[in-house]
Amino acid sequence: MIDVAVIGAGAAGIAAALRLQAAGLRVQILEARNRVGGRAVTDHSLGVPADLGAAWLHFATDNPFTTLARHQGQQVLEQEPGWGSPLLATHFAAAEAAGVAGLDVPVSTVVPDDEHRARFDAVMTWAVGMPSEQVSTLDLHRYDESDHNWLVTEGLGTVVAGAAQGLSIALNAQVTHIDWRGPGVRIEGSHGVLQARAVIVTLPTAVLASASAPRFTPALPASHQQALHDLPLGVCNKVFLRFDEADLPAGMLHSIGDTRTSRTASWSVRPAGQPLVMAYFGGPLSQELEARDELEAFAREQLTQVFGAELARRAGAALCTGWGRDPWALGSYSAARPGAADARAALASPVSPHLLLAGEACSINRYGTLPGAWDSGTQAAHTLLRTLGDTP
Ligand SMILES: Cc1cc2nc3c(=O)[nH]c(=O)nc-3n(C[C@H](O)[C@H](O)[C@H](O)COP(=O)(O)OP(=O)(O)OC[C@H]3O[C@@H](n4cnc5c(N)ncnc54)[C@H](O)[C@@H]3O)c2cc1C
Repeated sequence: MIDVAVIGAGAAGIAAALRLQAAGLRVQILEARNRVGGRAVTDHSLGVPADLGAAWLHFATDNPFTTLARHQGQQVLEQEPGWGSPLLATHFAAAEAAGVAGLDVPVSTVVPDDEHRARFDAVMTWAVGMPSEQVSTLDLHRYDESDHNWLVTEGLGTVVAGAAQGLSIALNAQVTHIDWRGPGVRIEGSHGVLQARAVIVTLPTAVLASASAPRFTPALPASHQQALHDLPLGVCNKVFLRFDEADLPAGMLHSIGDTRTSRTASWSVRPAGQPLVMAYFGGPLSQELEARDELEAFAREQLTQVFGAELARRAGAALCTGWGRDPWALGSYSAARPGAADARAALASPVSPHLLLAGEACSINRYGTLPGAWDSGTQAAHTLLRTLGDTP
């Protein structure tokens, strides 16, 4: 029997396993995909690195992946994207004031409905993955301000994968059943059967709330099931278009597509310095385009409108993500339903001394990010270390 099984080799699972292993415990990670990293992965099919999931080092001066990237010899680009728009200051102030007052209501009900509202709603779909009707003022207020947002030339997914070195990880290991009747836990799946003293489950909330989730015996408590329901995943997607070096301006550039509608993309020219143009879609538009396989067509059409026909003609091969239909993610990042901002704390509370949930959705101040997932995994490991230290 091993000491701890960790389900999922994303940032949370890697952090938990590293902490437990450093304490001398025998740890086994079970990962359904054929790779580590989860929602952080760098793709090279366009001939240059492209981060399909996490790309930004949010909270960059206080982000474990900034340190890891440097240890791995990667180039961290300390160039701020300049996302903040003074036009939206009153909207963000109104949402913040509601959160400070302890109101847990839809952001859409407290922000001004003025000429900049569509732009604000679009920003919500990218930042939170949800339309502002489905964004909680309290959840938004609790999110730490990310003052520094940097990129990694070789890709952040590469950094996350590198962090898993030295861990014992079974790939292509889909967990289907977790029996935690005790004294230990019994984990079944495509790997066979694994017995452990304890388990940390780091699956995305949308996966755990779906019909394809691993079965728990006994079932998860009602409090945790409710929390999973209250923390759905938004669906953000990226379309990368490849360019020749000479066809793009020299520096990185970030801009908004159509400012008159929330159904538009956010654009990055030369993301992480690569010869690419990237369109970022969020919320219902992203979900609909993905479901209809129209992400690329929409991106090319918008490229013409935003940057002109001349540049659009030079766009080469495209690469699209599909996070909504990815069976091991079923979305991009979690958003608390209005009225349910406390679901994150409920999800993070131990199910039993030998069964804990972890992952970005458990982070109250840095949800939806790699450092939030990392902190959650580390926290779960600390909790288990106390428990396992008390029992043989
Ligand atoms: C499009 C997009 C853009 C993003 N941008 C950023 C960004 O710029 N910066 C940032 O910090 N964050 C960003 N994020 C969020 C970040 O990627 C996540 O918060 C983080 O990767 C979540 O880590 P996690 O360990 O909680 O979950 P995951 O990384 O999802 O790990 C869970 C693991 O569980 C595995 N799994 C699922 N089901 C099973 C099963 N039955 N059995 C075994 N294993 C299973 C999955 O394959 C996965 O590897 C982005 C995400 C997306 C999708």
